[in-house]
Amino acid sequence: MDKSKAYNFKSTSMSDNISEDINIKFKNCDINTSVNIKNDENKSIDMEAPEFKDFAKEMVDYIANYLENIRDRRVLADVKPGYLRPLIPDAAPEKAENWQDVMSDIERVIMPGVTHWHSPKFHAYFPTANSYPAIVADMLSGAIACIGFSWIASPACTELEVVMLDWLGKMLDLPNEFLACSGGKGGGVIQGTASEATLVALLGAKAKKMKEVKDEHPDWDDNTIVSKLVGYCSTQAHSSVERAGLLGGVKLKLVPADVNNQLRGEALESAIKKDIDEGLIPFYAVVTLGTTNSCAFDKLDECGPVGNKYNVWIHVDAAYAGSAFICPEYRYLMKGIETADSFNFNPHKWMLVNFDCSAMWLKDPNWIVDAFNVDPLYLKHDQQGSAPDYRHWQIPLGRRFRALKLWFVLRLYGIENLQAHIRRHCGFAKHFEKLCSADQRFEIVGEVQMGLACFRLKGTNELNELLLKRINGRGNIHLVPSKINGIYFLRFAVCSRFTKSEDIEYSWKEISESASEVLNEKN
Ligand SMILES: *Cc1c(COP(=O)(O)O)cnc(C)c1O
Repeated sequence: MDKSKAYNFKSTSMSDNISEDINIKFKNCDINTSVNIKNDENKSIDMEAPEFKDFAKEMVDYIANYLENIRDRRVLADVKPGYLRPLIPDAAPEKAENWQDVMSDIERVIMPGVTHWHSPKFHAYFPTANSYPAIVADMLSGAIACIGFSWIASPACTELEVVMLDWLGKMLDLPNEFLACSGGKGGGVIQGTASEATLVALLGAKAKKMKEVKDEHPDWDDNTIVSKLVGYCSTQAHSSVERAGLLGGVKLKLVPADVNNQLRGEALESAIKKDIDEGLIPFYAVVTLGTTNSCAFDKLDECGPVGNKYNVWIHVDAAYAGSAFICPEYRYLMKGIETADSFNFNPHKWMLVNFDCSAMWLKDPNWIVDAFNVDPLYLKHDQQGSAPDYRHWQIPLGRRFRALKLWFVLRLYGIENLQAHIRRHCGFAKHFEKLCSADQRFEIVGEVQMGLACFRLKGTNELNELLLKRINGRGNIHLVPSKINGIYFLRFAVCSRFTKSEDIEYSWKEISESASEVLNEKN
């Protein structure tokens, strides 16, 4: 049914521009409704610029105050599920409110339910980035508010991103083949998250292998080929890798990591060989540099050549630890990078660029571009081909102007200060290791790498579960656990850019006191 025919729009005196009578008749219903909408078209409904300036300046003051005093807040939110609903009305306001009332509700409604990720007392998960230059850049991005899906949709949005990924790639000393400035096929793109990068790489690898197999077996149909495809990662890989397999509709196998939680070339090769023998088609392998459980580094210099030998796409997931490669002394951990097809890390984790900014490089983006290319007329433009149309490099169509925050951070910190940030965090983890190792009740689990120290009380898993519960229950610091091969341990991640060595000592004292309490109660 053509909906326009069901409505009878009768407009009175459009010329006086003051009021409009809209008479809507629902022909298919028995009711006959008349709605009289009065609308003063000259009266602004928007917040005006002078008010915006006051509001925004107040917010900037609030933000600076919040962050500079974040250490004094309870790191872990102390609320029960459902705490928020009773604090605000049941429905949206009919009439506009004033911004002062909104501001005053932040402390009342929001802050009690915030876990303060940027507190020096936050040691859970991995860091997420936060810096003033990135916050300001996001304000500008919000103002320009373009959707940069193609070059013509906002040339600066695409072009700054191309150059920033070259800057960043050079900072990590990535092989030239990954950089757009090399003049080859390679280049970088900002994805929202590492999980998306893993999925995008998997889909590119899948498209590539499908084409190769079809060239060889023109009589095989798509379903037959897809059912034979198999990808790999280690048992220590992030859960998003297994998920990429599910989303991509292909098998993804977990290959056992070695005693140091690293994926080794031999293990990968024997898995690949076994699958080939069984008639499967290996196409993709994820090598993790800096695992989420314990910050272990897969042996890229062993796995990469195996991937190349069997024509298996190698994707490197360095979500957290990749930021450390801006420091030359850590680059030995990415040895073999020239064998990779794609590489990804999150400046939004450890390089002071606020979420979301996940940097991904591809040696040959055409596999991804072709895999995702559906080109409707309204998205075509004359300059197609002279600059990347990033919509083909990612899953969504829309994309924000995220390169701005990278640009601001790189310029306003400089490589030198970003390196200092990384080195300071690594030093703090070592400081924690010393404190922990000096206490006979505790043991360090594995090697302390980057800004993460894994540890446990000598004794049962149950004892360590009690310890963690006690630590988080006291609410002064926040940690999360992990488990490898049945051994439960606690993860101490250095997260805040405000962290000082006194903070590490404070956190250690919390852990040590909690341990005393738990051990006393046991005995
Ligand atoms: C954090 C992490 C991820 C997930 O990152 P997102 O950007 O949140 O998707 C993936 N892999 C590793 C190794 C990580 O540490």
